[in-house]
Amino acid sequence: MKKLLLILGVLILSINISYSQTDICGYQQPPYNPIEEQQIKDYISSNRTNTTITVPVVFHIVWQTGHPEQNVSDAQIISQIDALNRDFNLLNTDAANAPSIFTPANPNIQFCLATRDPNGNATTGIIRRQSPIVGWDPGNYMAYYNLGGSEAWGAPSSSNPCPYLNIYVCNLNGSVIGVSSLGIVTVDYAYFGTVGVLGSNYNKGRVATHEVGHWLNLRHIWGDANCGDDLVNDTPTHNAANFGCPTYPHKSTCAGTPTEMTMNYMDYTYDQCKYMFTQGQVDRMRATLTPTGSNSGILTSLGCTSPIYTTCVVDNFGVTVPDSGKFRVAWTPVPGATSYTLEYSTLYTFGTAKVSLNVTSTDTVITPSPTSINTSNLDIYYVKVKANCLSSTFTPQLVVNVSKNIGINMLDPILGDTTSGGSSGGGGTTLICPDTYEPNNTLTAPKSISTNTDIFGTISPLNDADCFSFSTTKPLKNVQITLSNLTIDCTLQLYKSDGTLLTTSANTGTANEIIIANNLPQASYKIKIFSNGVSDSTNCYKLVVNRSKSAFRVTGDETYYENIDTELLETKIYTVDGRLLDLNNTDNLSSGIYIIQYVYEDRIEFEKIIK
Ligand SMILES: [Zn+2]
Repeated sequence: MKKLLLILGVLILSINISYSQTDICGYQQPPYNPIEEQQIKDYISSNRTNTTITVPVVFHIVWQTGHPEQNVSDAQIISQIDALNRDFNLLNTDAANAPSIFTPANPNIQFCLATRDPNGNATTGIIRRQSPIVGWDPGNYMAYYNLGGSEAWGAPSSSNPCPYLNIYVCNLNGSVIGVSSLGIVTVDYAYFGTVGVLGSNYNKGRVATHEVGHWLNLRHIWGDANCGDDLVNDTPTHNAANFGCPTYPHKSTCAGTPTEMTMNYMDYTYDQCKYMFTQGQVDRMRATLTPTGSNSGILTSLGCTSPIYTTCVVDNFGVTVPDSGKFRVAWTPVPGATSYTLEYSTLYTFGTAKVSLNVTSTDTVITPSPTSINTSNLDIYYVKVKANCLSSTFTPQLVVNVSKNIGINMLDPILGDTTSGGSSGGGGTTLICPDTYEPNNTLTAPKSISTNTDIFGTISPLNDADCFSFSTTKPLKNVQITLSNLTIDCTLQLYKSDGTLLTTSANTGTANEIIIANNLPQASYKIKIFSNGVSDSTNCYKLVVNRSKSAFRVTGDETYYENIDTELLETKIYTVDGRLLDLNNTDNLSSGIYIIQYVYEDRIEFEKIIK
């Protein structure tokens, strides 16, 4: 019991520390707040309730590296929850020891280990942080991860009502064995719960009972002053804190010398000698758990409502193209869903380039917007939907090609696998792609594509090759070609329009194949995608050609090609006497001697020819 020895040391030496010298509790009494006191009076006079209120609790065990004894067991944590539920529901048998002049009251407050975290995910309600911090001063520093603690759930230091009670267990410095500060409760690891390594005077979990009393707006019974006021009408005036187990009746030195309620949880007596709250204290605590009270966030907390993972999943999700420029999304209604969030995007990654709709129907026809991302007659959209329940996630997305042609039903719908994550289980995200580019097998018949546009295709059947063409312009002479979403080892090649190979990508496996080609002359170019001996008819690759005025930078795995020839800008034909002819080539020249002037980006060259 080193802490108690330290208390005595503090008493004798009057060491000046920031909190009261005699405290075993680091609670700092707040100033009198008339608005809050009026709220409590109003609660008592007209809004009093006695229904059970449940408080979700998250325990943060912050233990010092090398001190596993501070990392208290789950059993010790559960024993503390049990102790709180005992004391805050007047289920403690020692309440029967109360002298007849005092009446223990029942707060009717239940505590539960949180089962849902602030993000809606399942939790044990126990967070463990191994920390380099040797010991903690009273305060709420332990509620911050960056200070070596564990980030509190909710908003402990703001005015926002917190939906959790955050209880910290750590090694408190000095004589303090418990603190309630700025919305969190802290208990020293050696004074916590009812099992584990505990001294005989602090083995009933009542340090936490006392601190949770503070969290519920109770003051020390002596009002932290000589004959101070705890703002509760039915507690006697104490001249000071009591320690140990005072013999009854213990008389106050204050006016009237009332018998002190040394058995009140808000005194400093030993665990085995404190066992009651008064009705006035119960009112004060429960007033915080009202819509206008400081702990109103508890009332609407879902902290002890387990997340539901099995019933809020959209199943049988499908997309069809019923008409030109539209697509239809349908799925099986989800029990318990209040609405659905349907999202579509021209980007596989969605990001911000998406349209998000809140719908109640499970069968919706969409005329997509934007429709002009692609300049071709096809828009490719990714579609996903989420049922809005207590906890839900999006379906795997489907891909749909939407025809913008005048005619109807120009394209077959492209459907994806819909089984992933469904209640029937199984399945991954599988996109089924059309082999839209199947005729473009050779470099002599490439499919012309737009730049800065996602192109999707498959390498199927075996030994398939897909060939595309694009152009550069004078300013947009730098090109990056990216082949991604690969499920098989593919190769990407860049050719000049005459079929001359410029470069071949080098990556193996399903890593992206990226070619950077800078300083290309203004011309048409060709791309070839192929794979040796493997095919995949199900999953589509994604190809995109980006052009830029400035050179693309090589950062890692790209294959780099740079045209080191400067561009021929102009060809001029002169007669030997220096007369400029209005001709672009030499085909139609009559017999004679001519001077050809070649104007390059960086130089001019001359050539003499004889026709
Ligand atoms: Zn206290």
